[in-house]
Amino acid sequence: MPLQHPRTHMRGQDKSGPQAEQRSASPIWSRPWGSYAAFVGFTTFTFAAFIAVLFIWIHRESQNQMRELVLAQARSLFESILVARHWNANLGGVYAVKTDEVQSNPYLDHPDVATVDGRTLTLKNPALMVVEISEYSRQERLFSYRMVSDRPLNPRNGPDELERVGLEAFRAGDAEFWRMEDLGPAGPAVLHYMAPLRIDAGCLSCHAKQGYKVGDINGSISVRLDITGALARHDQWFRQAATAAAAASMLLLALVLLYFRRLRRQIAQAQDRCELLANTDVLTGVPNRRQLMARLEEELARAMRTGQPLACALMDVDHFKRVNDTHGHQKGDTVLKVLARIARETVRGYDVVGRFGGEEFLLVLPGTDSEHAMELAERVRLAVHDRLATETSLPNVVTISLGVATLRPGDNVESLVKRADDALYRAKEKGRNRVEREE
Ligand code: GH3
Ligand code: MG
Ligand code: MG
Repeated sequence: MPLQHPRTHMRGQDKSGPQAEQRSASPIWSRPWGSYAAFVGFTTFTFAAFIAVLFIWIHRESQNQMRELVLAQARSLFESILVARHWNANLGGVYAVKTDEVQSNPYLDHPDVATVDGRTLTLKNPALMVVEISEYSRQERLFSYRMVSDRPLNPRNGPDELERVGLEAFRAGDAEFWRMEDLGPAGPAVLHYMAPLRIDAGCLSCHAKQGYKVGDINGSISVRLDITGALARHDQWFRQAATAAAAASMLLLALVLLYFRRLRRQIAQAQDRCELLANTDVLTGVPNRRQLMARLEEELARAMRTGQPLACALMDVDHFKRVNDTHGHQKGDTVLKVLARIARETVRGYDVVGRFGGEEFLLVLPGTDSEHAMELAERVRLAVHDRLATETSLPNVVTISLGVATLRPGDNVESLVKRADDALYRAKEKGRNRVEREE
């Protein structure tokens, strides 16, 4: 049977060169952000900005709520004094026994009446009643109210600056007027609340002489409510809620970022694994043809640059078809695995052993001249001769043939391997189980 050496590297050449293998080093997650640090910075900033806007909105809303609450309180205070005033006005005023503490209203024409039993009663008209009740509330509580009119019978009921604004607002048609005054640490926070008082029939007994008609606005009751405590409680609540929410948000952000970091590591590991799988021969675990040619290309470029020698040896199992035919394809696979291991163990650490195709392996030997490459190839041949059959439990010795070539000026990967292949061909022709060098 004529000996035919299959020129595997001439057939079915791998079209993908080393350039095609160069993939982006940046992992998938980092592409839109540039780097993980930028990603973390951007995420934290966006998250913090979102939380800040949310908090500002919550603060404003809760202040509105609180304002509505204190306003409702002021309205109810106003209503209660209004009811008392109506009661008084509808009765045409109420009389109290005049004593040293209970004085007559100096602004009424005839405030006092004598009873048949000789006591003196004095008239408490609505305005005076409001003034006196207001005195009570001012002393004892956190609110006060007073009658206000821009045409008062009692000059003390004249409006202050703010109340004048309120009265003008009522004349312009407003149904109520309020202002919040927060002096901060300088003083109490106060809610000023006013609503108009309209003349009804009961008021005319005293106010008709001022020219009022029923329905006219003759003034207002001005309520002042101390809201310092309510504001302080609100601020304390907001600070506590904001602190708790900020802590929870930061914790959440930290968890998300930690999760991303783990994900990033897993992606990087998966990438490494993919890269390894893409570059490794599944059966023997040595570099596959793609990786092998890339490494040879690298070494060739380095040798050209540095002027260092470079050798390669193409190695082929002798009569491997017979091994397959006699012992089965599975045994053949074992032979290839053990052969790759023996070759790896025999060459130096920086040499590359890769599967070139089928039962052919290429040894890339950097910094090695022809003589040393021949020695190394011979060492591999001997190691295989001595160990391969034993380590694969085969009855007959399994041998290999090798063709050695060294880098020449003007060489490229193809021309260098071609000369090694030619040398291997001659080794086969000369009887196998031998090393031949290029011509
Ligand atoms: P030669 O000494 O001339 O090299 O003879 P050979 O029989 O080794 O050469 P040939 O090219 O005729 O046969 C190579 C055989 O290697 C054929 C093919 O079935 C076998 N082979 C290629 N790849 C594998 C593999 O991955 N596993 C196994 N078991 N066999 C393989
Ligand atoms: Mg072959
Ligand atoms: Mg062979």
